[in-house]
Amino acid sequence: MTLLGDGESRLLIDGKLVPGSRGTFPTVNPATEEVLGVAADATVGDMMDAIDAARRAFDETDWSTNVELRVRCLRQLQQAMRDHADELRELTISEVGAPRMLTAGAHLDGPIEDLSFAADTAESYQWTTDLGHATPQGIPTNRTIAREAVGVVGAITPWNFPHQINLAKVGPALAAGNTLVLKPAPDTPWVAAVLGELITQHTDFPAGAINIVTSRDHGVGALLSKHADVDMVSFTGSTATGRAVMTDAAETIKKVFLELGGKSAFLVLDDADVAAACAMAAFTASMHAGQGCAITTRLVVPRARYDEAVAAAAGTMGGIKPGDPSSPRTVCGPVISARQRDRVQGYLDLALQEGGTFACGGGRPADRDKGFFIEPTVIAGLDNSARVAREEIFGPVLTVIAHDGDDDAVRIANDSPYGLSGTVFSADPQRAAGVAARLRVGTVNVNGGVWYSADAPFGGYKQSGNGREMGIAGFEEYLETKCIATLAT
Ligand code: NAD
Repeated sequence: MTLLGDGESRLLIDGKLVPGSRGTFPTVNPATEEVLGVAADATVGDMMDAIDAARRAFDETDWSTNVELRVRCLRQLQQAMRDHADELRELTISEVGAPRMLTAGAHLDGPIEDLSFAADTAESYQWTTDLGHATPQGIPTNRTIAREAVGVVGAITPWNFPHQINLAKVGPALAAGNTLVLKPAPDTPWVAAVLGELITQHTDFPAGAINIVTSRDHGVGALLSKHADVDMVSFTGSTATGRAVMTDAAETIKKVFLELGGKSAFLVLDDADVAAACAMAAFTASMHAGQGCAITTRLVVPRARYDEAVAAAAGTMGGIKPGDPSSPRTVCGPVISARQRDRVQGYLDLALQEGGTFACGGGRPADRDKGFFIEPTVIAGLDNSARVAREEIFGPVLTVIAHDGDDDAVRIANDSPYGLSGTVFSADPQRAAGVAARLRVGTVNVNGGVWYSADAPFGGYKQSGNGREMGIAGFEEYLETKCIATLAT
């Protein structure tokens, strides 16, 4: 492997790869519990340097107005990632526990190719709009609307789909003309740090345009929300941390963009093929050990078909054995850490205390003494008021809930503090569309349609966040709007 060849990653600050001022911290393979190597451990001082560098690059270079340079740099980064895709794939499998089959999609190849959308959008975007001549207050005026970069963006990301989430911020934020400091999760530092290596070796990014700061200390990332020289913070992670980011950002009134948690519902209407729909819900809930914010983890089925639905879900989930993510057949790998495994186990224990039963799974697999594995689990016998039906578990766990018709199904789906995603299955597409329209969520899958795509906006209602990532809406999150009014002569 040429990337991270010495088993140690560095920070990217002001165009240079530098060590962390607090030394290093280990990064661990969640499937084996082996230490893969170490990552640079940044201090608040290192983060200050990164913010200063991003500020200078924004204020003192032509980065924010030079579309051609930005597009060239992003395409160079994309090509470097393509050229190193084999190494990145192995790194992603070993550091994230990402199942190999998913690296062909959202775990690696998808986000690399999606950089094209950011670059293409910058090239074709209409940066100014002529609003025409008018006489406001009797004064003849020509008006132009300009879209401009916000400034310095702080991007804070989680560990679950790190390439996808890092690049869904890096691509549009830089394409739009911002400079950026990326602060990845301490559980997956290398996936972000390798970008620094590729950028310094293969691209023309000017010093400071992009900075990457790994740290085991969450407080180092919090500086991005607080610092007056950061104009916008773009955060993906838990709702609790999102709340802290928003609070920290209030002092400087910076723009805050949040992609947070979810507890999405998969609605099976009474005319649907219940067995097929439940099998699909069960498969989805097992993928990447359920560590996806938009996974539908509440399966809401007709009361009269409840037992059949539980059996179908358990038939699928019980057959998915958590396994080695490097195998091309593995769907469900490990969860990211011992802490996360114990958190999921805590929710499984809670399900029993709440009166639920397990139709399959329920704990750690007996055949694995190493690695942070949890069995895909179907919880039955609870309604939507149970904590396991209301709180995000972030493991391979599906709770099956009965509904009494379409109105009740919609009520249950919307009875959540979250509003990220949803699914509707019905034999009647019009009926399904009507139900989809009533869901207070940012994305809906109807009968198996796929909303995940570079040109489709993704994000949440309610406590799942604000703003949208990806699509033109995602690009425009990183823009300000200026109206220039010129006295007409
Ligand atoms: P987390 O909220 O614990 O951490 C996310 C990031 O925030 C990490 O980089 C962490 O170091 C940093 N952080 C922690 N405290 C901070 C603070 N006070 N100020 C600034 N940064 C801070 O989340 P996680 O456990 O890494 O990821 C799992 C969560 O992310 C789940 O809740 C999941 O639903 C959510 N998620 C949401 C989306 C989405 O698009 N809606 C996508 C993926 C994950």
